[in-house]
Amino acid sequence: MISGCIEQKFKRCPPLPTTSVIIVFHNEAWSTLLRTVYSVLYSSPAILLKEIILVDDASVDEYLHDKLEEYIKQFSIVKIVRQRERKGLITARLLGATVATAETLTFLDAHCECFYGWLEPLLARIAENYTAVVSPDIASIDLNTFEFNKPSPYGSNHNRGNFDWSLSFGWESLPDHEKQRRKDETYPIKTPTFAGGLFSISKEYFEYIGTYDEEMEIWGGENIEMSFRVWQCGGQLEIMPCSVVGHVFRSKSPHTFPKGTQVIARNQVRLAEVWMDEYKEIFYRRNTDAAKIVKQKSFGDLSKRFEIKQRLQCKNFTWYLNNIYPEVYVPDLNPVISGYIKSFGQPLCLDVGENNQGGKPLILYTCHGLGGNQYFEYSVQHEIRHNIQKELCVHAAQGVVQLKPCTYKGHKTVATGEQIWEIQKDQLLYNPLFKMCLSASGEHPSLVSCKPSDPLQKWIFNQND
Ligand code: UDP
Ligand code: MN
Repeated sequence: MISGCIEQKFKRCPPLPTTSVIIVFHNEAWSTLLRTVYSVLYSSPAILLKEIILVDDASVDEYLHDKLEEYIKQFSIVKIVRQRERKGLITARLLGATVATAETLTFLDAHCECFYGWLEPLLARIAENYTAVVSPDIASIDLNTFEFNKPSPYGSNHNRGNFDWSLSFGWESLPDHEKQRRKDETYPIKTPTFAGGLFSISKEYFEYIGTYDEEMEIWGGENIEMSFRVWQCGGQLEIMPCSVVGHVFRSKSPHTFPKGTQVIARNQVRLAEVWMDEYKEIFYRRNTDAAKIVKQKSFGDLSKRFEIKQRLQCKNFTWYLNNIYPEVYVPDLNPVISGYIKSFGQPLCLDVGENNQGGKPLILYTCHGLGGNQYFEYSVQHEIRHNIQKELCVHAAQGVVQLKPCTYKGHKTVATGEQIWEIQKDQLLYNPLFKMCLSASGEHPSLVSCKPSDPLQKWIFNQND
C-alpha cells in the first residue's frame, strides 16, 4: 500500500456519501460471488455501506436461485434482484441502479476482492467533485491460485486506460505531463478510458450523465461509451490509487452470446455513431462486422442517446482527442487503399500474429475478411501499415519480413527503404532497397528474387466489404 494512502484521513463530519454496491453476475461460481460479497462486508465501514445489490442476469446454474436466496437472508443489507431474460451486464447494472437507495453507486464484478480501505478514497473524491467517476486501482487476482497481486508500497507504476482503433480497451503507463500534474502518489489519475467493471459514481450524476445505453447487449463497448461520454459531457474519469480492489482477469470470455458475438460490434457501432463523429470511419475500416452493421443500419435507434448529447451540450470527439488523450495515435482519416492483402497462390492473408514476448510477427493465415489482425493500409509514402494501436509497417529484411514501428512519422521524417513497397502491374510487392519481392512461400512472408510468373509472389489488395 502506498504510504501516503495509509496516512489519509477522512472526516466523519460532514460524513462521506453512502453507497449501494451493485454486483451483476451471470452463472458466477458460488465461491467467487460470495467471496466478493464477504469482502465488501468486511472492508467497508458500516456507515458508508447502505446495501449490496446482487443482480442476476438470468443465470441458469441452480445454486444461484433458491440456495443463494436462502443464504443471503442472514445479511440484512444484501438484496437480490433478477433479470428474467439474459440481456447482459449493461441492463443488469441499470436494474441494480434503479433499486439502489444510497447517494452513490459502486459497481463491482462478481469476482473481486476489496483491499482494506478501498471505499473511502472513492467516496471522498465524489464528495469533493460530484462529476468525478472514479475507479479503484485494479489489482489482479491469479486465475488459478487466487493469489492477490498486491500493488507495490511505492506506488509509481500506475497505469491508465486507453483504447485502440478497433475500440478495444487497454492499459498504458502515465505520460510525463500526468506524472507531473499529480502532487503526490495519493492524487487521482486522470484516465482517457476506464475498464468499466469497478467504479463509483454519484447516483444523481449517473442519471444526469445518461446512465448507460440500455440497448447495448450482453457485454462489451459500454465502458468505452461511458468514458467518451463522461469526458465529452463535462465529467472526469479518474483512478484513485489509494483504493485497491482485486479482480480475476480471465484469458477468454466464459460467456455465451445468445445472438452471437456480433453484439459486441453492434454495441461499438452504437457508441461510435454517437460519440466519435467522423473518426468512426477509422473504426469501421478495421472491423468488418461493424461496417456491415452500419451498412445494414441494424444498430437500432439512437435518438435517446443523441438527445443526451444535445441536452448536455457535449463536446466533440476532436476536443476529446486533443484535450483528454493528446498522446493518442490517429490513423489516416482517408487512406488510399485499405483492407486485407491476400496471396494469389494460396488462400492465405498477411496477418499480425502474437508471440510469447508480446511481439507482433508478420505471418500468413487463412483469410477471414474481418479486419483486425488482417487490416492493412497502403500509404501515400508507399508503406504497408498495420495501424490499430500504433503505426506498424511491413519491414523488409534478409529472410523473414517483419512488422516494425514505421519510420515515417509525418513532418520532416522519411520512410526508410525497408518500409517502401511498390505495387507492380503484375501484382508483385516490390521492395526497391533490396530489389526483391514479397513471397508467401513458407510459414512467414519473406523476400525472394522477383519472378512475375510465381503465384506465391502475387498479392491482391482487397477492400473489406
Ligand atoms: N455479466 C453478466 N451478464 C453477461 C455477461 C457478464 O451479468 O451477459 C457479468 C459477469 O458475471 C461479471 C460482469 O458482468 O460480473 C463483467 O463480466 P466479465 O467479468 O466477464 O467481464 P471482464 O471482467 O472479463 O471484462
Ligand atoms: Mn470481470
